[in-house]
Amino acid sequence: MEKPRVAVASLGGTITMTAGHGTRGVAPTLTAADLLGAVPILAETADLRAETLITAPGASLGFTDVLRALSWARDAVTEGAVGVVLVQGTDTLEETSYLLDLHWDRPEPLVLTGAMRPPRQPGADGPANLLAAVLTATAPSSRGLGVLVVMNDEVHAAARVRKSDATALGAFSSAPFGPLGRIHEGCAYYANGPARRPALPLPADRHSPRVALLETCLGDDGDLLRLIIDADYDGVVISAFGAGHVSTGMAGMVSKAAERGPVVLASRTGAGAVLSHTYGFTGSEQDLLDRGAISAGWLDARKARILLWSLLSAGDSVEVIREAFAARGGHPSGPDAQVGCRPDNAPAARGRHW
Ligand code: ASP
Repeated sequence: MEKPRVAVASLGGTITMTAGHGTRGVAPTLTAADLLGAVPILAETADLRAETLITAPGASLGFTDVLRALSWARDAVTEGAVGVVLVQGTDTLEETSYLLDLHWDRPEPLVLTGAMRPPRQPGADGPANLLAAVLTATAPSSRGLGVLVVMNDEVHAAARVRKSDATALGAFSSAPFGPLGRIHEGCAYYANGPARRPALPLPADRHSPRVALLETCLGDDGDLLRLIIDADYDGVVISAFGAGHVSTGMAGMVSKAAERGPVVLASRTGAGAVLSHTYGFTGSEQDLLDRGAISAGWLDARKARILLWSLLSAGDSVEVIREAFAARGGHPSGPDAQVGCRPDNAPAARGRHW
C-alpha cells in the first residue's frame, strides 16, 4: 500500500541540539534529515520529505522566519503531502503555532513539535514527539483542525497551547479546557474540537507592525505604558491582573493609549478569559472596556499579540480589529457552545461582543 506523504521541516530548537561545537552547552546543529534518520520506524509510517529551513534556537525566530515556513508548508501540501510537520524550539512554539494557524488555509494538518531534552540526553523525547507528530499529520481525523502542537503524546490547538513549565517533559498545556486529543497506540484520538475560523489574508511584505506586550504588576501606575505610547507603537497588549484588571493609576493611561491605537486586554494568569461585565471599579475589566480597550477573551496575551500583529499588518481598522478579537477570542468551541448562561447575564443579552 502506498504510504501517505508527509513533509517535515526543521527550524532548529533543542530537538536538533548537540554539544561540542565551540559552544559551552548544546546548540542547534542537526538537520531535518538527521532527525528522521534517528527514528527508523518513521519510514514505515509515511513517505517522508525532509527539509532544513533554519537551524536556530526558538528564541531567535521572528515573524519573517515563520512566514517562510508557512509558505514552505503550503507548497508541500500543493505538491501532495497529506500533512506537514514543523520541528522547532519549544520556547516560542505557542506564538509561532498561533501565527501559522491564523494564516493556514488548508484542510491538511500542519503539526508543530520539538523536544524538551536534547537528543544525546538519556530519555530524550524528540524521537517520540516526532513520531507522534507524523502520526497526527497522517490521521484523517486531524484534517480541518488547523495548526496542531504535538508534545508528550498530547495534541493541542495552536490557539490555546502554552508552554507552562520550563523543563518538564509535559511542559505544554491548554488550560482550562485541556488538549484536543491524545496519541494512543499509534493513533491520534480527538475529544475536543476547536472552533476554526477562516484564514486571515497573508501579511503583506511592506510593513511589520510594532506591537508591545506589557505585563502589569504590583505597584504599576502606568509609567511603562506611557513609554510605549511615547515610543509610538502601532498597538499594545496589556497582560492584566486576574480577569482583566489594572491599577487606578494605569487606567487613565489605558484611555490615552486607546486614543492612539488598539489596546488589547488579556489576563496574565495563564488560563481563563477576561471578564466583560462583573467588576465595576476603576481599572476593572468593565472600566477598561469602556475606555476603549479590546477584550482578548480566551486568548492569552502572547496569542493576542500575534493576532494583533496579523491584523495590523493587513492594515485593519480598530473596528475590524475589535470584531476579529470578538470572533477569535470567543468561546474555544464556538458561539454554539455558549450554553447555560442565565438569560439576564448572557453576554449577547448585554450587547457585548462575545
Ligand atoms: N528549550 C528550547 C527547546 O525546547 C530551546 C529553543 O526553544 O530553541 O527547544
